Amino acid sequence: MPQNHRAVFLDRDGVINRATVRDGRPYPPEHIAELEILPGVPGALARLRAAGFRLIVVTNQPDVARGTQRREVIDAMHAHLMAVLPLDEIRVCPHDDADQCGCRKPRPGLLEDAASEAGLCLADSVMVGDRWRDIEAGRLAGCRTVLVDYGYAEQAPAPPDLVVRSLAEAVDWILQLPVTGHPR
Ligand SMILES: [Mg+2]
Ligand SMILES: [Zn+2]
Repeated sequence: MPQNHRAVFLDRDGVINRATVRDGRPYPPEHIAELEILPGVPGALARLRAAGFRLIVVTNQPDVARGTQRREVIDAMHAHLMAVLPLDEIRVCPHDDADQCGCRKPRPGLLEDAASEAGLCLADSVMVGDRWRDIEAGRLAGCRTVLVDYGYAEQAPAPPDLVVRSLAEAVDWILQLPVTGHPR
């Protein structure tokens, strides 16, 4: 069974790169010099890609809508991540709650758009994130869900399918998931 109809959707901050934690809550890097890829991430992505998964980063970056971050800085960070990691694409929601867009997680728009454009099967795909919004977006999209749990001082997610301490810890579990093999 070819697996190229499957994706691993990856939250960015706290999954791919280190989030800055203040008062128990995570924040994105403000400058490209602060962008630190987490240990084990390159190897984990390489194993998932070798198994045929598309690797798609889906990230909320509301500081753009809030006026505290420039889109160009985020784009430069993503160009760097695309250059050094085996990622297929990075999809960004630059909005805040007041925009009522369909792409800000916990809404599943980023995942659904990627799936419809690439003919992916969401039921055979996995969402990996570190906050409740990621887990909820994955659940609403019909994906399996993996929480990278840092014990943040904020709303807990609904129970995910797997809890780990790093992306690398999730790879064996993702690779053994049964395939239904139904492209959309
Ligand atoms: Mg995150
Ligand atoms: Zn949005």
